[in-house]
Amino acid sequence: TDITELLLSRIRDVADYPEPGVMFKDITPLLADPEAFAVLTDALAEVARATGATKVVGLEARGFILGAPVALRAGLGFIPVRKAGKLPGATLSQAYDLEYGSAEIEVHAEDLNEGDRVLVVDDVLATGGTAEASLELIRRAGAEVAGLAVLMELGFLGGRGRLEPALAGAPLKAL
Ligand code: 5GP
Repeated sequence: TDITELLLSRIRDVADYPEPGVMFKDITPLLADPEAFAVLTDALAEVARATGATKVVGLEARGFILGAPVALRAGLGFIPVRKAGKLPGATLSQAYDLEYGSAEIEVHAEDLNEGDRVLVVDDVLATGGTAEASLELIRRAGAEVAGLAVLMELGFLGGRGRLEPALAGAPLKAL
């Protein structure tokens, strides 16, 4: 569609970043284009409405840039899921495996509660490890997963299949 083509035209491929053999999808040209950024925000806000979300979670760091305007546009609160050690209050944390080693993400425990329906927003779905950990975190907080919405899915990495159990029927929307 026109929207897909506009968004794709504003994503830059950067070879061998952050390491040799990786083709990085750089979204900074999209962020710098107010028309494309608005189209993206509107499309993600429509997903928030369609899924009946009551809160938007953004994943550090590009999920913050996309998720915050989506939350505002949809009239919902924005909740940051951060890398470990960055949030000042009482947190819930979730560890997950990386190719080499592991990582940990956290959320303020008071931000997610029973009765919340949460849409997770991020820029790129790659292996799905980050998103999977965030979905577990949301459920452990007692909230419900409304869905996962990303700008772009790198299909060849199989993230969608990996996320099936964690999504448990909730929609995964990749624009
Ligand atoms: P995953 O956990 O799915 O392997 O990786 C997804 C996370 O890494 C997301 O938070 C995303 O921002 C980042 N990421 C991985 N590959 C890319 C990429 O090519 N471009 C961008 N912009 N982010 C990426």
